[in-house]
Amino acid sequence: MIETRGEKVDTLIIGSGFAGSSVARVLAERGHKVKIIEKRNHIGGNCYDEYDQYGVLVHKYGPHIFHTNNKEVYDFLSRFTKWYDYSHEVVGNVYGKIIPIPFNLNTLMIVFGEEKGQLLKQELIDTYGENARVPILELQKSDSVGIQEVAQYVYENIFLKYTMKQWNQKPEEVDQSVTARVPVLISYDNRYFQDTYQGLPLEGYTKLFENMLDHENIEIELNRDAKLDLTFDFDHHKIYYKNQEFTGQIIFTGAIDEFFDNQLGQLPYRSLRFDFEHYPEDYYQSKGVVNYTVSEDYTRITEFKYLTGQVIDGTTIIKEYPEVYKDNRQVPYYAILNSENIAMHQKYVDMVKPFSRFHLLGRLAQYKYYNIDGIVEEALALTKQL
Ligand SMILES: Cc1cc2nc3c(=O)[nH]c(=O)nc-3n(C[C@H](O)[C@H](O)[C@H](O)COP(=O)(O)OP(=O)(O)OC[C@H]3O[C@@H](n4cnc5c(N)ncnc54)[C@H](O)[C@@H]3O)c2cc1C
Repeated sequence: MIETRGEKVDTLIIGSGFAGSSVARVLAERGHKVKIIEKRNHIGGNCYDEYDQYGVLVHKYGPHIFHTNNKEVYDFLSRFTKWYDYSHEVVGNVYGKIIPIPFNLNTLMIVFGEEKGQLLKQELIDTYGENARVPILELQKSDSVGIQEVAQYVYENIFLKYTMKQWNQKPEEVDQSVTARVPVLISYDNRYFQDTYQGLPLEGYTKLFENMLDHENIEIELNRDAKLDLTFDFDHHKIYYKNQEFTGQIIFTGAIDEFFDNQLGQLPYRSLRFDFEHYPEDYYQSKGVVNYTVSEDYTRITEFKYLTGQVIDGTTIIKEYPEVYKDNRQVPYYAILNSENIAMHQKYVDMVKPFSRFHLLGRLAQYKYYNIDGIVEEALALTKQL
């Protein structure tokens, strides 16, 4: 066993995002001695936030809004933060026209006018029921001319070009779990999420992580790639940490392909470039997020003051440009889910399977899209298994 602070570490956690940090806290409270190894110079993974040079709290790796229906997850995270009660609203900029997104009954009236809108509304309610959330793929299957027209509008003006920008793919090439995330709402609810709990950590995500990791049984090493310290003996299924056999649990939340030097192939990802801009104005746009669904190279502009409720002179926005992921000088943001890539990931999973104390957890290690609540739920489930 390695020793740190004079005590024996029995759990190593690679990565300090929501996956790694949640596991660390629960195990530390059970009395385990946990060491987190994080290759960045900060904790919090992609949910890290910081104050920019103008004093505005910004999300370094893109805007993050917490939302969930899972009370266990909400209660767990609420131990480390109070919440700023923010209901997320998004609008789309369609050739200069501003419409609520997801497409809902308010959008319907703006796009089709009150008279036609009312007729279409009735048809949508009759077919799917009031307050239904219908994925765009579902609408397209309808036989009704009216519903087809709505589907066509959403497909062309909200979905098609946006998806092509985001994924550099044709929509039919995009995995269904992604297309299903583009819904039409049969209600006047302009909120982007309908979950019971939604908001942002009152003092920011980084503060939440600091509170979560503030435990006597947790030690954190920043600026360290765990790859440099861990070696695998594939013949005897042993793992060495700094050349000493490590027999405790290891929770790995990084990219598995990169960790093993792409020896079974490099998993494809979509990356993003974020351009931050500051303006000496109170507000830059009308809502927290404006999606550019048909024009511009960026997919959306986020204005942080709406999200965080911060009261400050001036405002900072972030423009999000999708990019091809080439190598680890970029951040791998979204797994590109298709059967070939999932099969390649599975080979890595099979490769580490004999190491029964080595666990893959998180959006990178599992090569899967998770929202914050989803990954915290997975993390809590893993701690119950261990
Ligand atoms: C643009 C964008 C916007 C999003 N918005 C939302 C949102 O609004 N709401 C929501 O609920 N979810 C959102 N998500 C999802 C959210 O970001 C993830 O659910 C969450 O970050 C997953 O946490 P994680 O711990 O799995 O991964 P990460 O946060 O990526 O953490 C992994 C950590 O492991 C570290 N690491 C990797 N390899 C190594 C290594 N070899 N050695 C040491 N450390 C290593 C990394 O540096 C990183 O800190 C968004 C995702 C993206 C891409």
